[in-house]
Amino acid sequence: MNAFLSYGDRVHLIDTRQRRYAITLTEGGTFHSHVGIVAHDDLNGIEEGSVVETSLGLSLFAMRPTLAEHVFSMPRGAQVIYPKDLGSILMRADIYPGARVFEAGVGSGALTMALLRAIGPTGSLLAYELRKDFADRARDNVEAFLGPGWPLTIELRDAYAGIDAEGLDRMLLDLPEPWHVVPHAERALRGGGILLCYLPTIGQVMQLRSALADSQLQLADTIEVLERSWQVDGQSVRPDHRMVAHTGFLTTARLVRGNLGPTRPRRRTRTGLR
Ligand code: SAH
Repeated sequence: MNAFLSYGDRVHLIDTRQRRYAITLTEGGTFHSHVGIVAHDDLNGIEEGSVVETSLGLSLFAMRPTLAEHVFSMPRGAQVIYPKDLGSILMRADIYPGARVFEAGVGSGALTMALLRAIGPTGSLLAYELRKDFADRARDNVEAFLGPGWPLTIELRDAYAGIDAEGLDRMLLDLPEPWHVVPHAERALRGGGILLCYLPTIGQVMQLRSALADSQLQLADTIEVLERSWQVDGQSVRPDHRMVAHTGFLTTARLVRGNLGPTRPRRRTRTGLR
């Protein structure tokens, strides 16, 4: 991807009110709407961020969508993970280039895309999804945004029933009952590997944390991410009235080998350690 738009690119045309019109540039194609007409051929080769004029004399910015924007404009069936959470997931699950990663379920593929970009072409992403329609749509969404050739394998399988992989670096679960997967994660992750679960309700988090406490997945941690946008308009500078107040909780844990034993240091006596 370089600075210049070309055929095949997804492009957003954005008006002064920040309304967006999503198109895919095709040779000879045209964009029609109440704001006027723009020929795709006039967009091909121009620098991203340029202003184009419609047949009705209105100006629009031509810009490729960011991943966060694509997540909200792509076709989705299942609830997607919001960009505010995707960013924290990549950091808290410590996703790095070349990592061997497992994901379930795939849903619409929002997390899948964030993971693929972070692991890059040298990583691998194995994903389980129960529903074929979701798996197909996720593949389409990934390819529409990232293009073909990414190291992604989606299998139509129930993650609760077991995972055919070992030595995984990272596992990410966005499904309702991740505690069923904890015993499989103990076998599939390498030492030091990280499990991250995204869960919408705290009852689910409690059940997960209790399963983790009895497992080799230790150092558990649960957070939520709050993001508040601000209106900045002349002298009127204040938080927006509305915000997305809740999406989900992020819980992480790491695979350890063995137990730490008692929490307090052994007491020293005159005759040595007791
Ligand atoms: N993280 C996704 C959304 C996932 S929605 C995104 O960002 O777009 C949850 C998905 O989990 C659904 O597609 C559902 O079909 C799938 N799912 C539920 N239980 C599952 C299981 N046991 N194994 C595999 N997939 C499962």
